[in-house]
Amino acid sequence: MADILVIGGGAAGMMAAIAAASEGACVTLLERNEKLGRKIYITGKGRCNCTNDCSIDDFLREVPRNPRFLYSALTAFTPQDMMSFLEDAHCPVVIQRGHRVFPATEKASDVTRALERCLREKGVRVCLNSRVRSLTAEDGRVTGAILTDGKALRADAVIIATGGLSYPGTGSTGDGYRLAQEAGHTIVPARASLSALETKETWPIELQGLALKNVRLTLKRGKKSLYDNLGEMLFTHFGISGPLVLEMSCHLPETLEGLDLRLDLKPGLTPEQLDARLQRDLQENQRRQLHSILPGLLPSSFARIFPELAQVSPEKLCGQMTKAERERLGHALKSLPLSISRLRPVDEAIVTRGGISVKEIDPRTMQSKLLAGLYFAGEVIDVDAHTGGFNLHIAFSTGRLAGQSAARASLEMT
Ligand SMILES: Cc1cc2nc3c(=O)[nH]c(=O)nc-3n(C[C@H](O)[C@H](O)[C@H](O)COP(=O)(O)OP(=O)(O)OC[C@H]3O[C@@H](n4cnc5c(N)ncnc54)[C@H](O)[C@@H]3O)c2cc1C
Repeated sequence: MADILVIGGGAAGMMAAIAAASEGACVTLLERNEKLGRKIYITGKGRCNCTNDCSIDDFLREVPRNPRFLYSALTAFTPQDMMSFLEDAHCPVVIQRGHRVFPATEKASDVTRALERCLREKGVRVCLNSRVRSLTAEDGRVTGAILTDGKALRADAVIIATGGLSYPGTGSTGDGYRLAQEAGHTIVPARASLSALETKETWPIELQGLALKNVRLTLKRGKKSLYDNLGEMLFTHFGISGPLVLEMSCHLPETLEGLDLRLDLKPGLTPEQLDARLQRDLQENQRRQLHSILPGLLPSSFARIFPELAQVSPEKLCGQMTKAERERLGHALKSLPLSISRLRPVDEAIVTRGGISVKEIDPRTMQSKLLAGLYFAGEVIDVDAHTGGFNLHIAFSTGRLAGQSAARASLEMT
């Protein structure tokens, strides 16, 4: 009988344990917390956007880094396979806007319960409050793991599924990076992805709480376009957040120097159409002050501070506005500069960018190329994706592949 240890009882680890046990291996799942899947409970604002009902090609377009590495895992366990898996585990799903898939009850706890039920049915031994301190290896092969209480566990294969560094309160504090590093693996420095951003400007802070729908963000360095999309953003007590900003954060380069970030508040109008609209508004309100007519174009809190951002006096009478001032106003509405001072800390990010280098993992099996019998799954690997259920599906599909491969290889050996 092949003995397999899975380290980490999150989405990736639970799926890896189920897959390995389904192949006939004797599986032990080690979780440092007092319960499984703590992070799953907070996903999708408690609703768990567990996958995305799209094609593999569309999926890969949502993965900014190392998408090809995921090809085997995704083709072996597609989003549609995940939906069937949950349905078979008595957790019906619904598809919502943007092909996002949720449990029909919209309760993340139902996804965890379905996974726990499968673990029980497949006979996986679940050890809670069991934190792995180190791996053991002999002659280039992993032989087991040692817990923080000193207990040693022997195994034919070990799967590391310990997550990244985001939301460390859920248990993901980067242990897997250290375990992999001790086994000789390279760790691509971990940092925040799907992260809110702090701005050098202080005016976004004055607008905290204000959400803008249907605006456009463009990010460039020199002539190179790094990001250009429409969506919803939010001003916060430190800068900017919201779905559009989170997605853009995945595309930020290592250094933030020399970036040109612009906010287009009127993406539906060309500069010429906007100028015509401004001319008409100013013409029709000649005796009013500028700040009093802007709420026709912007939310009122933004309208109050906006003239100064365009270097025009808010008290200026509309009838006295010069052409240059009107053009400055139009330019600021179409291309308002924002300077990013830094990403929020990784522990506040939705997902971790960086992690165990994909160059040292066989994408067809998830096995380490450096230490036989060692496998990886989930966020601990250097892959991350946009929002939409893609990150959980990466965890489920790499977990599935790691579990199956580890069990098959170990059963062949024994
Ligand atoms: C607020 C929030 C909302 C999110 N919403 C979504 C969403 O709706 N859809 C989506 O696709 N993605 C979402 N994500 C991202 C997604 O949750 C993660 O990418 C995914 O859960 C990663 O799964 P994982 O199993 O690799 O890691 P984790 O879920 O972090 O699991 C790792 C597990 O390993 C355990 N562990 C760590 N070290 C040890 C050790 N030494 N010994 C034993 N156990 C250990 C941890 O306690 C933890 O249980 C969200 C993330 C956050 C933070």
